[in-house]
Amino acid sequence: MKIDILTLFPEMFTPLKTSLLGKACEKNILEINIIDIREFSKDKHKKCDDYPFSGGAGMLMTPQPIADAFLSITNYKDALKIYMSPKGERLNQNLVKELSKENHIILLCGHYEGVDERIIDLFIDKQVSIGDYVLTGGEIPAMAVVDAVSRYVDGVLHNSDSTEDESFFDNLLEYPQYTRPQNFMGLEVPEVLRSGNHKEIEKWKKEQKILQTKKYRPDLLENNNNN
Ligand code: SAM
Repeated sequence: MKIDILTLFPEMFTPLKTSLLGKACEKNILEINIIDIREFSKDKHKKCDDYPFSGGAGMLMTPQPIADAFLSITNYKDALKIYMSPKGERLNQNLVKELSKENHIILLCGHYEGVDERIIDLFIDKQVSIGDYVLTGGEIPAMAVVDAVSRYVDGVLHNSDSTEDESFFDNLLEYPQYTRPQNFMGLEVPEVLRSGNHKEIEKWKKEQKILQTKKYRPDLLENNNNN
């Protein structure tokens, strides 16, 4: 999968070079390109923001450098072009899975008060939000999308089952997990997990998934009932 990220702050993307994503890029399972919008500015000072016509506080990202950054990407028309925005569709595991089916995604990160609306009209297929709150820029949201989506790309995770044995897979939260030592500060690992009885362990996991969901995210169970 190819992911291009358009940003004014390329230095923010160091985390994508580490851990599983870094390794996936080294193995060419993933291709992540960070594109510096400022390099495309035709302003002599490489300025990429200006005052909004509507007045009010803050600056807007100007359209020219963003448009030219899009146009610089080979086959940009065939890619799914996403603007990270608080106005967008809220990211959840279903949307993550949907996005992971794409071959090529371009993520546009806004900054300041956002981007000139004509960029959205001319280039953007979809707006995606990571939650109902406002961040200073689209860089952290873009990283959240890249991280979550990459986990569904074949070869990124060590164990292909990992995405199926996790929270949200079946609209339930994951069961609690334990590692050694067996007793930690007086708390024992549940006996059933030490029993070696796989049938009983599976039964326990199923029950615990429902209990965890009831406790932490009862809204997910309501959604399950509605489906
Ligand atoms: N003026 C915009 C508004 O009220 O909708 C907010 C602009 S915000 C300060 C700057 C940029 O951060 C946005 O253009 C967007 O790219 C990004 N951003 C902020 N919050 C976000 C969120 N919840 N999800 C995705 N992107 C977000």
